Amino acid sequence: MSSGTAEGGTAVGGTVNGGTAVTVRVPAKVNIQLAVGGARPDGFHDLANVFLAVSLYDEVTVRPATALTVTCEGPDADQVPLDRTNLAARAALLLAERHGIEPDVHIHIAKDIPVAGGMAGGSADGAGALLACDALWGLRSSRAELLDICAELGSDVPFSLVGGAALGTGRGERLTPLEVGGTFHWVFAVADGGLSTPAVYGEFDRLNEGVAVPPPEASEPLLAALRAGDPVALAASLSNDLQAAAVSLRPSLREALAAGLAAGALGALVSGSGPTTAFLTKDADAATQVASALLASGTCRTARTATSPAAGATVL
Ligand code: ATP
Repeated sequence: MSSGTAEGGTAVGGTVNGGTAVTVRVPAKVNIQLAVGGARPDGFHDLANVFLAVSLYDEVTVRPATALTVTCEGPDADQVPLDRTNLAARAALLLAERHGIEPDVHIHIAKDIPVAGGMAGGSADGAGALLACDALWGLRSSRAELLDICAELGSDVPFSLVGGAALGTGRGERLTPLEVGGTFHWVFAVADGGLSTPAVYGEFDRLNEGVAVPPPEASEPLLAALRAGDPVALAASLSNDLQAAAVSLRPSLREALAAGLAAGALGALVSGSGPTTAFLTKDADAATQVASALLASGTCRTARTATSPAAGATVL
């Protein structure tokens, strides 16, 4: 996808040619395992979160301006906040504050990742804006410094920066890279309207009231399937502890999951906190077929095919 407004003057190796604009491409993610522990005293949950970056991307372009402004284009653009609550704006503000500089940039988001879909679109824009501003301002921050700011922005933001596949522990922000032995083919069914992540965790707590929730642990069979690049084995070990909560808040997700499986998907799950549903298929042809069947079933607004792993935030 092109960002439409990006000009020349892109960053190369952290320096800016002409200082006019820097565009960064950032992937969406799917959680192939999301193991959720009980609520902690601070309200957060410990997670064992296996992230996989997928080839649906936002592009974030930053250029010098007289004040911090945000614009957005794309099918869901009207649902994206354009004020300082936008994660891309927050990233620019945090980086500028750390370096004692003015955050005077125009941020343009070409949005292709579903909004509030459980695919970390906002987090992607935060990581993208951070990397783009770092290049535009010639800061050459280390990866560790960038990851530190990402973790401050949100639990999913560090993964948007690194991409590939990783195990996230703690709130999901402590990352260990994972080996992936092949390309996986996915279909993502995008539902109408979003689901609020805090609301889904609230429903998880409600459904698990009085239940001794075990400490979250990464699944060994899942990690082995990922290493082997084996879609059949991976499909058999997909799991999301938030799925019951997401389905409870949005019962129609049950039909979407069933429609994809009936169309030949090897496995299906709600992506993160939903309401996007993810379907693993055996190859690219099967993905195209499952996507058509999902669209025809009327259980989703749109169905997108994608592959994984995808690279993390990248300066174009
Ligand atoms: P996650 O998978 O990390 O839980 P999500 O994919 O469900 O997130 P997002 O698309 O990140 O959800 O959006 C969640 C909310 O964050 C939106 O409803 C919106 O109000 C807010 N938001 C802030 N910045 C952005 C952004 N750049 N893009 C989209 N939403 C944003």
